[in-house]
Amino acid sequence: MVAYKNSLEFAKEKDKKDPLNPYRSKFHIPVINGIETIYFTGNSLGLQPKSTKEYIDKELEAWKNWGVEGHFEAEKPWFSYHEFLTEKAAKIVGAQPLEVVITHSLTTNLHLLMASFYQPTETRYKIICEKKAFPSDQYALESQAKFHGRKPEEAIIEVGPREGEHLIHEEDIIAAINEAGESLAMVMIGGVNYYTGQLFDMEKITKAGHNVGAFVGFDLAHAAGNVKLELHKWGVDFAAWCSYKYLNSSPGGVSGLFVHEKHAHNKELPRFAGWWGHDKETRFLMEPGFQPIPGAEGWQLSNAPVLGMAAHLASLDIFDEVGMDALIEKRKDLTNYLEFLINDISDRLGDACTFEIITPKNETQRGAQLSILAHGMGKPLFDAITKMGVIADWREPNVIRIAPVPLYNSFEDVYRFSECLEKAINQ
Ligand SMILES: *Cc1c(COP(=O)(O)O)cnc(C)c1O
Repeated sequence: MVAYKNSLEFAKEKDKKDPLNPYRSKFHIPVINGIETIYFTGNSLGLQPKSTKEYIDKELEAWKNWGVEGHFEAEKPWFSYHEFLTEKAAKIVGAQPLEVVITHSLTTNLHLLMASFYQPTETRYKIICEKKAFPSDQYALESQAKFHGRKPEEAIIEVGPREGEHLIHEEDIIAAINEAGESLAMVMIGGVNYYTGQLFDMEKITKAGHNVGAFVGFDLAHAAGNVKLELHKWGVDFAAWCSYKYLNSSPGGVSGLFVHEKHAHNKELPRFAGWWGHDKETRFLMEPGFQPIPGAEGWQLSNAPVLGMAAHLASLDIFDEVGMDALIEKRKDLTNYLEFLINDISDRLGDACTFEIITPKNETQRGAQLSILAHGMGKPLFDAITKMGVIADWREPNVIRIAPVPLYNSFEDVYRFSECLEKAINQ
């Protein structure tokens, strides 16, 4: 355990020793009202790498110079542009290249994957998800149930925290899976909960789901680029994630889709098909009869939105250079320091400070994010730190989410945030 100190000198010393510190200068840090922000919302929209513009400009230039010929003549031909991203994205989620494709947007991909992996029958039709899942996931699951003629309240089992608690006991998820048993068709859970920042043991959940014969998938919006993922090794059936949170790849940017190798050649899986998922050799013969490309690419519907892909590639190149292991090591240190400073404030101010961190204390059960339940202080506290230049995230009814991101946030950011927080509480 590192001995942390609540001082600017200490924070600066940490930055000096941090091998990833130089990466901060590769990002645009927003300056709002003349103040360089303390940007702690990389869990919502990651910052822009300075290289993004070059990557996009290159494709604009190719489009200008080649028109349609750019599909084959551009330096990175658009026809297969997504392929330049696959290997790098696969490393981030612990997958084989065959198992990953960058395509569409996140909720779209969840639906496409559920078209394949939610196949309810008369007796096996239930879905297990976490309570307070991200709204889009809730709507996606409800509509999937209805699409198959099921009432959502009959089909969907939500596992929530126990009475008076904020986090979900993993054993409760496992118990729910076992209890549903042969009636369970699919488990679909957020790998890291967007609200509490709780990271689930995906390997354990996958095993439990498979034991009762269900498919298991994860929404990795808050996990990709944030925590260690081993999707292939864990045997996860399917997953999807967005690229605009920890992966810094432009607002509403393209999404990642994972289908495990064991399903790569299964042509019997039902799916919604489009021409970009069709066998590359015969795609342009434009003949009837869909022949899926083996692996994740077979789930593509449309040709690649190259400008969004270029933004994603710019970011993936940075991730590839740094590697997830180094990122995760710094992430733990940064968030532990943040936790230390918040607890220090809370200890010193005693009754004047009524907030509590609801994210797990154990660093193996969380990513970068800490969620602070603000109790009595709430919105005014949030508004006060915002005025001081902190970009954090407010979630009704009473939670402030903050995520220091190892690629561009510094220990000094964390220290300055704690200064703002203390000042705001004392106001
Ligand atoms: C951010 C997020 C989404 C957003 O979905 P889009 O389709 O990209 O708009 C969905 N689910 C979770 C869990 C998220 O965190």
